[in-house]
Amino acid sequence: MANYTVDVSDMTQFLLGLLNIYSPTGDTERAVAYVRRAFDTLGLETALNAKGALIATWKGRSSERPRALTAHVDTLGAMVKEIKLNGRLRLTQVGGYTWNSVEGERCFVRTATGATVSGTILPIKASVHVHGSKQVRELERKEENMEVRLDARTTKADETRALGIEVGDFCYLDPHAELTETGFVRSRHLDDKASVTCLYGAAKAVYDAALVPTQRTTVLISNFEEVGHGASTGIPADCVELLAVDMAAVGEGQNSDEFSCGICVKDSGGPYHIEMRRKLVELAQNADIPYKLDVYPSYSSDGTAALRAGGDLRVGLIGPGVDASHAYERTHQASLVATARLIVEYLVAP
Ligand SMILES: [Zn+2]
Repeated sequence: MANYTVDVSDMTQFLLGLLNIYSPTGDTERAVAYVRRAFDTLGLETALNAKGALIATWKGRSSERPRALTAHVDTLGAMVKEIKLNGRLRLTQVGGYTWNSVEGERCFVRTATGATVSGTILPIKASVHVHGSKQVRELERKEENMEVRLDARTTKADETRALGIEVGDFCYLDPHAELTETGFVRSRHLDDKASVTCLYGAAKAVYDAALVPTQRTTVLISNFEEVGHGASTGIPADCVELLAVDMAAVGEGQNSDEFSCGICVKDSGGPYHIEMRRKLVELAQNADIPYKLDVYPSYSSDGTAALRAGGDLRVGLIGPGVDASHAYERTHQASLVATARLIVEYLVAP
């Protein structure tokens, strides 16, 4: 067991800063730059690949059995699909979520010139006083029944175009990021910015304690995970292990919680590697880190993306517990700390 300290208040500040940088899949440059600036101060060599993902490397004590870790900085979001005749916007989703989970949400459309126009995602029949509660309630929440009401004087497509808005503009969801007095962090997009934060917290703990990872270790901060191909590239070909760090699925019937580190044994991509699971459980037990083994029924990770792209890797998956994933999410600082600690133990393990 290594001797080090995980700085939870610094991690939380890092997380809140990252949550407040919009980064839907396809528009992640600013979030990647934020993470890169942090990693640059922690003794990691950083570079971007052509896709725009961040690749950070520790040389390590040995390069006999190189390792990689990954977490993703891209999030759910939306894009303008159509400028409607009434001047409002129809959206197409970026990533997978239900329209119910963004009904009434504040959003921001970013135009080609970089200006932002605020708006709200609403059903096309939103007012109870206009349509009656039955019609409002029974309208199916699907793409064609949802629209963005812009906070601008527009009732025609031409007037909306005059604001600089065009088909293909990104539409960001307000994350509503907040640390509560009880130590919870509630926000959209904790998937997977909470895990990026755990990697940051672990890297800082390693740096502050002057520890050196056992093997050459690559950290891939991927930027296309939510659409399935994040870590399909970016893992060096000679790596033999990949530890994906992504949220543990908390909810009814699940073993995961918001106060421990989740160790996934199986998700929609099948079982994770048994040797990785054994190693992670042993590391957690030896260091007295709270952990929960779990199965995620409707879930896939960048670990699976790397395998499907042909990676010959032992893949494991750990992460902080996130409640109500792909909706208004929540985790607890205890889960961030547990996950950061398990990452440190993994980095310095034989
Ligand atoms: Zn994720």
